[in-house]
Amino acid sequence: MYTSLLDSDVLAGSNNRRPASLFIGMRGQLPVVVIVGGGFGGLAAAKALKRARANVILIDRTNHHLFQPLLYQVATSVLTPGQIGSPIRNILRKQKNTTVLMGEVTRVETAEQCVVVSDADRAEVRLPYDYLVLATGATHSYFGHDEFKKHAPGLKTLADAVAIRNRILSAFELAEAEEDPRLHRDLLTFVLVGAGPTGVEMASAISVLVRGALRSEYRRIDPTSARIVLIDQSPRVLGSFSEDLSMAAKERLTKLGVEVLNGQSVEHIDEAGVIVGGERIASHTVIWTAGVKPSPAAKWLNAPADRAGRVRVEPDLRVPGHREIFVVGDTASLDQNGKPLPGVAQVAMQQGRYAGRLIARQIAGKPPLRPFRYFDKGNMAVVGKGYAVLQSGRVHVSGLLAWMVWAAIHLQFLATSSLRISVFLQWVWTYLTGQRGSRLIVDHHGPEPAVTPDEPGTQLVNSLGGGFRVQ
Ligand SMILES: Cc1cc2nc3c(=O)[nH]c(=O)nc-3n(C[C@H](O)[C@H](O)[C@H](O)COP(=O)(O)OP(=O)(O)OC[C@H]3O[C@@H](n4cnc5c(N)ncnc54)[C@H](O)[C@@H]3O)c2cc1C
Repeated sequence: MYTSLLDSDVLAGSNNRRPASLFIGMRGQLPVVVIVGGGFGGLAAAKALKRARANVILIDRTNHHLFQPLLYQVATSVLTPGQIGSPIRNILRKQKNTTVLMGEVTRVETAEQCVVVSDADRAEVRLPYDYLVLATGATHSYFGHDEFKKHAPGLKTLADAVAIRNRILSAFELAEAEEDPRLHRDLLTFVLVGAGPTGVEMASAISVLVRGALRSEYRRIDPTSARIVLIDQSPRVLGSFSEDLSMAAKERLTKLGVEVLNGQSVEHIDEAGVIVGGERIASHTVIWTAGVKPSPAAKWLNAPADRAGRVRVEPDLRVPGHREIFVVGDTASLDQNGKPLPGVAQVAMQQGRYAGRLIARQIAGKPPLRPFRYFDKGNMAVVGKGYAVLQSGRVHVSGLLAWMVWAAIHLQFLATSSLRISVFLQWVWTYLTGQRGSRLIVDHHGPEPAVTPDEPGTQLVNSLGGGFRVQ
């Protein structure tokens, strides 16, 4: 993958750094801008550098840009993975100054101005930079209880969404095959830990799924009897929204049959369910929709960090003491009006765009930009079919109108026009018919179904979370 780069003696462990000369003979002596992360922040930075006289190198551990706000729709079968992700190199195909590399950055050598990258082919490749933009996002946080992870997967990547979809659909398959009706209840109990936007959207989407597409397809179980429990230690759902919208969302959830347990924290999670307030809720499917923690960028840079571990950046998004390094998005910490900016896509996009433009201006010898300022366009969350809550300044709206604004904005921010068309058509189809984009249980890494040779005629059907015998 790094063939052209690896041929250079600046790479592969050499300390003989020649930052601006990486592409000598290929594109002339241009500054090298390395962007780590092809999410909202990194992609915006790369696009802002489109006309810069620079060699831009964007590195991501995956080959795709992911529209995370719609992950819950993949997890609940509305959309397919391919409808919310696009290959980064396809998005940037017309940007001739930009090279896209798939690899995992494992550290930054600030003194040498190198990022260290590994991929399946090569480990610890050194890639020099003149400017560096770190946009490596965040991952789940189990608040010191990493043992919960095994039983309560989180939702951050496409693989997470497909794994959760497998789990939800498998629960119905297992219940249908289970002859003891007393076990149906546990199999059809879905617990979501965390009632922020992701928890609320997931809980309501599961409710719509069981009442719609699944309703008439089973013979031994009634999918509409599924129990959906949403737990949060804060006193209300959607804590970052105003109180009236939070109340409206809770009312809507209750109408959808979701049990909301506010002011309660989860004490324990295991394969049999969760313990909340000393009581066990037996469940086959627990989903973690609570906290996130930033990427280890602050550790890579040995830079000052906030309590969550995000890099404390200067008002122009640079890292203190490093004029050539910028950190943007979920992995950066910046206060505005005395409050830290939230970890949302708009902040990441606006910061990425700002960092890219600032670098482009510096390369062109133009004066710098004014300090970064976030323009808050508002918050939205979906609560079931045709219903959303929207808060933008003093405007607070809930219901169908808010959902239509939500749909329009989400379509607009999908990465390519083909995704916009595909998602729009899918939504119209699902809205009208209740039919879903993909209800397949696809266990990419699971064991093959096996036949035990000493028991002829017995087939062991394997499924996520256990197997059952069909005689
Ligand atoms: C389920 C879910 C729902 C959400 N819903 C909303 C919403 O409705 N509205 C909203 O505004 N925000 C929402 N968010 C938050 C929003 O998605 C993030 O704030 C945003 O993605 C942050 O952008 P970013 O560029 O900082 O990071 P990301 O978009 O997460 O991108 C980080 C990129 O860096 C790559 N990367 C990470 N580490 C490395 C490494 N070491 N080497 C190479 N590559 C690396 C990752 O593969 C990824 O592509 C949601 C998030 C989730 C998880």
